[in-house]
Amino acid sequence: MSSYRPFSLEDATAYAKSIPGFFAADAALSCEEIGDGNLNLVFRVADPQQNKSLIIKQALPYAKVVGESWPLSLDRARIERNALEIQHRLCPDLVPAIYGGDDELAITVMEDLSGYTIMRQGLIAGNTYDRFAEHIGRFIATTLFYTSDLGMNQQEKKLQSARFINPDLCKITEDLIFEDPYRDAANNSFTEDIRAEAEKLWQDHALHLEVALLREKFLTQGQALLHGDLHTGSIFITPESTKVIDPEFAYYGPIGFDIGAVIANLLLNYAAQPGWSSNDEVLQERRSWLLTTIVGVWNHFELNFRKFWDADGIDIMSKTPGYQDLYIDQIRKDAIGFAGCKVIRRIVGLSHVADIDTIDDELSRRQAKVTALEIGKRLIKGSRSAASIAEVIEWAKAAA
Ligand code: ADP
Ligand code: MG
Ligand code: MG
Ligand code: MG
Repeated sequence: MSSYRPFSLEDATAYAKSIPGFFAADAALSCEEIGDGNLNLVFRVADPQQNKSLIIKQALPYAKVVGESWPLSLDRARIERNALEIQHRLCPDLVPAIYGGDDELAITVMEDLSGYTIMRQGLIAGNTYDRFAEHIGRFIATTLFYTSDLGMNQQEKKLQSARFINPDLCKITEDLIFEDPYRDAANNSFTEDIRAEAEKLWQDHALHLEVALLREKFLTQGQALLHGDLHTGSIFITPESTKVIDPEFAYYGPIGFDIGAVIANLLLNYAAQPGWSSNDEVLQERRSWLLTTIVGVWNHFELNFRKFWDADGIDIMSKTPGYQDLYIDQIRKDAIGFAGCKVIRRIVGLSHVADIDTIDDELSRRQAKVTALEIGKRLIKGSRSAASIAEVIEWAKAAA
C-alpha cells in the first residue's frame, strides 16, 4: 500500500517490475500511456525481448472531460477490479485475467489485450463478428444470474451488494442518461442542426413519464451485479473471441440495463450506416447483420438465463410455475426501455459515439442523429408493452 498519486511512466514501470514472477528483474521495460477515456490512465508496460506485457489502469480523482471540477471517488478502481474478478471467475474466456492491484493507488493490473480491436472501431471499419451475440449473451446471463438472488446465497448477496455501492458513478448515469437529455441542461451537447429535435425531447411529457419509471428502476432495483457501462467501447473483439473490460460503473441494478446498453450501441451503429456504407447493397447487408445480432444477443441471454435458472436456481419460490416467464418478460421490457435511453443520451447528452460523430458528410451525420433519436423514442415509449425482441427490429426499420 502506498498513498495515491497519478502514475508517471516511470511509476508504472516500477510498479510493473514489482509484480512477483511477471517480468525478469533485469528486463528492459517499455511503457506508454494508451488511455482514451476521460476518467482514467491506462499504461501498457512491455518487455519486447520476452514478448511479455501487461496493462495498469489507474483511476483519476476527477473527470478529465470537465476539468478537475468534477471529482470522482477513487474507490471505483476497487469496484472495477472486484467486478472484473467476479466476472472473470464466472466467464474466464470473456474477461481479461487480473494480475493484481492496489486500492489506495486506485490501480488494476491485467492481461494485455492489444491484439484485440475495440468493438466500436471494428464496427465503424465495417467488420462483422458472428460469435459476438453468443459471447455477450452468455456473459450477461452468467454474470447477472450468478450474482442475483436466483443464483447465489441471498444473505451473501446482500453483503456483496454492499461492496458495490458506487454513488459517484451511478450519479453520472442518473444525470447524463436519465435526466439531462430531457431538459435544457448545461451538460447537454448537441449540434445546432438538431436543436429542434432536442427541444422536442424537452416537451415530450409522455416520454418523460417512461424515462422517470426507468430511472426509478435504475435507482432502486438491485437485481444483480451489473457491468454498468457495457457499450461497444468496453468490448475488445476478434472474429473468434470477445473480452469485456471497464466495469467501473458496476453496482447492483436492474438486469435489463446491461442488455439495453449492448442493444443501444448496435442501434447507434445501425443509425449511422448511411454515413459509412459505400452503396445500398452494403448498407442493407450491414443493417441486416446488426439487427440479426440484436436478436441474437437477446436470444443467447434468454437461453442461458433460463438454463441457469432451471439448473442452479437456489430460490424455492423461483420454481413457482409461471414466475420465470414473467421475470424474463420484464427484463426484456426493461432492456428495450434502457436501450432507448442510451441511444438518446449519445445524441443530445454530454458524451457521444464515434459511430455517428466521425461520419464525414454533414447531412449523413445529421440524418444519423435524427434516425437514432427516432429509434430511441420508439423504444422508450414501446418498452412497457413490448412482447418480443422482434418489435425492436420493427421500430428500428420504421425509424430508418
Ligand atoms: P476508461 O474507463 O477510461 O474508458 P478503459 O478501461 O475503457 O478506460 O480503457 C481505455 C482504453 O485503454 C481502451 O479503449 C483500450 O484502448 C486501452 N485498454 C484498456 N484495457 C486494456 C487491456 N486490458 N489491454 C489493452 N488495452 C487496454
Ligand atoms: Mg474509453
Ligand atoms: Mg472505457
Ligand atoms: Mg470506464
